[in-house]
Amino acid sequence: MMSSIQFGRWPGGRTHAVTFSYDDGRKEDRRMVEIFNRYGLKGTFNLNSDMLNLQDRVSPDEVRTLYAGHEVACHFATHRFPTRCPREILLREVLEDRRRLETLTGGLVTGMAYPFGLFNAEVIEILRACGIHYARAAVSTGQFTWAPNDWLQWHPTGHDRSVTPDTIRRFFNAPVWEAAGRLYYIFGHSYEFNSPERWAFLESICQAFRDQGSDNLWAATNLEIMTYVEAVRALVFSVACDRVRNPSAIPVWIDKDGKAVEIPAGQMLSL
Ligand SMILES: [Zn+2]
Repeated sequence: MMSSIQFGRWPGGRTHAVTFSYDDGRKEDRRMVEIFNRYGLKGTFNLNSDMLNLQDRVSPDEVRTLYAGHEVACHFATHRFPTRCPREILLREVLEDRRRLETLTGGLVTGMAYPFGLFNAEVIEILRACGIHYARAAVSTGQFTWAPNDWLQWHPTGHDRSVTPDTIRRFFNAPVWEAAGRLYYIFGHSYEFNSPERWAFLESICQAFRDQGSDNLWAATNLEIMTYVEAVRALVFSVACDRVRNPSAIPVWIDKDGKAVEIPAGQMLSL
């Protein structure tokens, strides 16, 4: 009899994942990163590299250390309106942002968040040409979807203002058909945390994710989520579903008869 194979497990066989995405690189990112680090959560920070010398921004020379363990991604070099720019300006906004952020981080920067959440077909075409792998848009879906149809139109679950103890409870307790994939994707701006109450609110949601998620929660950056999902999608199965090969460079987990099974990187496994 063919065993029951299902998808939607995160690394380590975990059932739920959470990722945060914060824009503009304002000084409040320092406190936000400190809080995420304390709760073992991870964020993606979308920076405008031409604006990092402004008074209210983090400074270029702290980018590498401040965001260590998190992800730095593009947000246009100068935060122009994407849908109003001529092509050569668009190109510069994306490619120059990428180049500078890669210099500052010493890594690869292939993620992005659209300034003002705006994009069109031409903007997407430019992103592809610039080697951007995913781009966050700004329509709140209210869903815990495992992955978007198009990584260059990745809409989040919701703004951090929409997160409550109830939505977190729903996330952890929803039946599978209601929460396929079980990814809670939260976005916002650290400068909106402008009072002790707001910071306390952030700590309370971090605590709720930790308390309710316990060992079943994977905290990841946006790019880590994408890389993992793409590795699962790249699995190759025999027609009978009794063998599977993982051609990617990372281990992935699937669900077999209700149990998590690890498929090591680059290996074939009998199921
Ligand atoms: Zn912005």
